[in-house]
Amino acid sequence: MLMTAPEYIESLRQLKTRVYMFGEKIENWVDHPVIRPSINSVAMTYGLAQDDEYKDLMTATSNLTGETVNRFNHIHQSTTDLVNKVKMQRLLGQKTASCFQRCVGMDAFNAMYSTTFEIDEAHGTHYHENFVNYLKYIQEKDYIVDGAMTDPKGDRSKGPSDQADPDLFLRIVERREDGIVVRGAKCHQTGSINSHEHIVMPTQAMKEEDADYAVAFAVPSDADGIYMIYGRQSCDTRKMEEGADIDVGNKAFGGQEVLVVFDDVFVPNDRIFLCGETEFAGMLVERFAGYHRQSYGGCKVGVGDVLIGAAGVAADYNGASKASHIKDKLIEMTHLNETLYACGIACSAEGKPTKAGNYQIDLLLANVCKQNVTRFPYEITRLAEDIAGGLMVTMPSEKDFRSDLPVGKNGETIGEVCNKYFAANPCCTTEERARILRLIENLCLGTAAVGYRTESMHGAGSPQAQRIMIARQGDLEGKKALAKTIAGITK
Ligand code: SF4
Ligand code: FE
Repeated sequence: MLMTAPEYIESLRQLKTRVYMFGEKIENWVDHPVIRPSINSVAMTYGLAQDDEYKDLMTATSNLTGETVNRFNHIHQSTTDLVNKVKMQRLLGQKTASCFQRCVGMDAFNAMYSTTFEIDEAHGTHYHENFVNYLKYIQEKDYIVDGAMTDPKGDRSKGPSDQADPDLFLRIVERREDGIVVRGAKCHQTGSINSHEHIVMPTQAMKEEDADYAVAFAVPSDADGIYMIYGRQSCDTRKMEEGADIDVGNKAFGGQEVLVVFDDVFVPNDRIFLCGETEFAGMLVERFAGYHRQSYGGCKVGVGDVLIGAAGVAADYNGASKASHIKDKLIEMTHLNETLYACGIACSAEGKPTKAGNYQIDLLLANVCKQNVTRFPYEITRLAEDIAGGLMVTMPSEKDFRSDLPVGKNGETIGEVCNKYFAANPCCTTEERARILRLIENLCLGTAAVGYRTESMHGAGSPQAQRIMIARQGDLEGKKALAKTIAGITK
């Protein structure tokens, strides 16, 4: 059964997830002003699935049950499914101007589905069956599951079992008849608090001696031993200020990243999807990363649409929209943004079925997509700041614009002075001008910059991770052979 957006928010209240922020335990985290916008972003994935205009894109027919499920809980059955995934992510980026967090679970499902099939084939294990049963349960409940991959990793020159502190990579600390006990942490965990469950995966390819670290499993987010420490974002406390709605830039929506700690957490046997088969850790990582690199060709493009639109509105309000260099900058922003989208669509259209039957993106093109994402949003941001003008970072607060404290010789108030000196094109009020500039500030420098800007660099793997994959998938030898043939070289 699909949940409505309000039902989703209510379902979070049933969880006993342990959340800490600013050194304190947060009891009512669902209504906390810093956290709630991130919940609203996830809620949009539920709301649009019930909206007649979008439900075809937002839902799919489960290959496991034949029921209608949210596309975020779907196993891709075709290249059309892969393309629709990217379109859905662009739509949600447009509607929230932030990270809507649900993709990591979707990408984990699809990587896990194909990898568990191949582990079972090699080892006679039952991980695929475990996973399929688990996913049926998630689809039926319409839960959101967080895909957790990134370990703290400690000293980067050392592997998991060589670290001074063995907990710096998540590991099995006890094997029992009925399951395993795990310890460690996952960093930069998107949407962790807003998820009903977590699927945990290894963070990198593993060697034989790392068997305790080659583990994948699912647990409820409020399982005994799990707690989360909220990652702060630039300008986050503006969300806690009274009378600063405009200053926040995007009052309704936001992203969320946390440190999630697994403090000796028990995992029952039927929720284990990998347990010591080290040679499959790399496959799982590569597939999950590939899907998530495809994802960025959708979500970042949708947020980019909002930023380009905001820059266009700022140009109108400044009275600068007819200047040819402004028009050209907006064209450049659009060109860069659509290039990212083209990559997201291309790696989807070139997808192929896996042994398990679900569809996987073209890995080379997905990595090229993400490599471009590590660059283009920075240029789009630079151009947006250029068009917006310095006022986006020098403007007084909303409270100043609303203040009736007299300051001028003729009794003019702070509000009147601000409104006088920040008036521009009469097509807009100063409040409208402030709103659009604060939105640009939010996307370029504020809380949304986590999801749009720095996450474009490091999310789904830092740039070098894609270059390694591009080197591996790029078939340089094949290209050399082409050149030799054309040049008439026969050896
Ligand atoms: Fe989804 Fe993008 Fe957020 Fe990743 S960064 S969870 S792909 S919205
Ligand atoms: Fe991400």
